[in-house]
Amino acid sequence: METSSKLKVIVEYEKCCGAGQCVMVAPKVFDQREDGIVIVLDAEPPEEEYAAVREAVAVCPGAALRLSDSA
Ligand code: SF4
Repeated sequence: METSSKLKVIVEYEKCCGAGQCVMVAPKVFDQREDGIVIVLDAEPPEEEYAAVREAVAVCPGAALRLSDSA
């Protein structure tokens, strides 16, 4: 049976302080607006991006990023 689940990126925009750490570690998944607030380029990134996305969640100083597993 297929057990792999897709990771979904969830952003709490009001917590984003525009530090840009996420963009630095996962530039394929995150970008920033002109005012610094994060833009999610790919809310359901491919598996090869998972490590970078997890890293982005870990380094985000505003704790604005979360991941959820969508079946
Ligand atoms: S690392 Fe966090 S606070 Fe910084 S831009 Fe990304 S989401 Fe916003």
